[in-house]
Amino acid sequence: MIDLQKLTIVSAREALKKGDFTARELTQACLDAIKHKDPEVHAFLEVFDDCLEQAEKANINLPLGGIPIALKDNMLVKGKIASAGSKILENYRATYDSTVVKKLKEAGAVIIGRTNCDEFAMGSSTENSAYGPTKNPIDPERVPGGSSGGSAAAVAAGMVLAAFGSDTGGSIRQPAAFTGIVGMKPTYGRVSRSGLIAMASSLDQIGPFAKTVEDAEMLYEVVKGQDPLDSTTLSDSSLANSSDVSFGKHGQNLLGKNGFTIGVPRDFFEGQLDKDVAENFEEAVKKFESLGYKIKNISLPLLKYSLAVYYILMPAEVSSNLARFDGVKYGLHVDGENSIDDYFKTRGAGFGREARRRIILGTYVLSSGYYDAYYGQAVNMKRAITEELRDAFKEVDLILTPSTPTPAFKFGEKSDPLSMYLADIFTVPGNISGCPSASVPSGFSGLPAQAGNLPLGLLLTADLGNEAAIFEAGKDFQK
Ligand code: GLN
Repeated sequence: MIDLQKLTIVSAREALKKGDFTARELTQACLDAIKHKDPEVHAFLEVFDDCLEQAEKANINLPLGGIPIALKDNMLVKGKIASAGSKILENYRATYDSTVVKKLKEAGAVIIGRTNCDEFAMGSSTENSAYGPTKNPIDPERVPGGSSGGSAAAVAAGMVLAAFGSDTGGSIRQPAAFTGIVGMKPTYGRVSRSGLIAMASSLDQIGPFAKTVEDAEMLYEVVKGQDPLDSTTLSDSSLANSSDVSFGKHGQNLLGKNGFTIGVPRDFFEGQLDKDVAENFEEAVKKFESLGYKIKNISLPLLKYSLAVYYILMPAEVSSNLARFDGVKYGLHVDGENSIDDYFKTRGAGFGREARRRIILGTYVLSSGYYDAYYGQAVNMKRAITEELRDAFKEVDLILTPSTPTPAFKFGEKSDPLSMYLADIFTVPGNISGCPSASVPSGFSGLPAQAGNLPLGLLLTADLGNEAAIFEAGKDFQK
């Protein structure tokens, strides 16, 4: 029996090499788990019909040879539907592989299927999917987080060993925290966005979900890298040589934990935390101390404006990115009286409420009379927040906060959009600044452990290009 609930990529690779099971058997175990669990969880929008074939062909000597992986429904896989959780792309079939998929295929991964998400990655609960919500496998009355809730639930429920999501404001890290797994957003530009259906291009980044930091690191190593198809991607050397980017600057600190300093910006999160989250966080800080890390209280007074900045920049980019869905070039087409009417009818029928809300907001903040007052101000503030964070990284290697202010909430609990937006308050600075950031499981709400305890996450953020610091400290913490 393959215990998918426990199996990691690292242990699966060993077992495959020892011959404990074959890649086909591993994929079959995932298909069985999906058949058994997914009618309740609804993590998958589609399980691909060629998984077993992929598994049979997989070369287990490759870095991810025979490892079953799921993908959020906004990453293109040639020949497969990619709907971004939207009716407007319900029947859209990708004509090419996204760069991430190309790299995963080259690394021998078995791509199991596409996972549910909030429409065009807009949301924090996966309740905005046009195909119905995904449930949190830990407590089916609660949301798995979002927007990559399907990917998180698929890993947490033991239906696949790993998954990928996209993170524009927290959509990898927040669902990882809600489901008790690791979720990581790399430095902006480390992973190609070619073939990712865009939400807000200056903030979007693809990243992994896994059970352990070690697994997440392996996945990141496979998909990262400069890509001629995405001019915003960075090479290792551009990060290492740029005076602007301190890649490796703290590298020497990684050699000894005593030189490794973790900054805690209490002024940023104090007073905003659920009691359980606050207690759990203080325990995590103590654990790092006992592991030999130096803890330093820091003050980041501008960080609290990140969410406001995000909700101006993001809709602005959404309104322009979603303009391409006009009923002519892609997906759904509804006939109207004339071509303008075609647009109205198609977009009215194809987009859900949240997508429409953001298109309207974005169009407004970009309109000529308001551009300077909103968009211009937000761009300036983005720069100031980034500088504040980058300055902090001159003194600390990592910044530590809780991943979310509360554990997973119940369905319908955040029906007011503003309260939903607040779920990303701690994750958004990573996107605003481009800094890498990961959520690592830090235990459960409520002590002692009992049924009903919900997973909590710890957010580790590092300077641009310094993923290594997150992986080192994250692995230590998880040991
Ligand atoms: N929850 C945030 C939003 O609704 C972030 C989404 C994301 O990271 N894709 O925009």
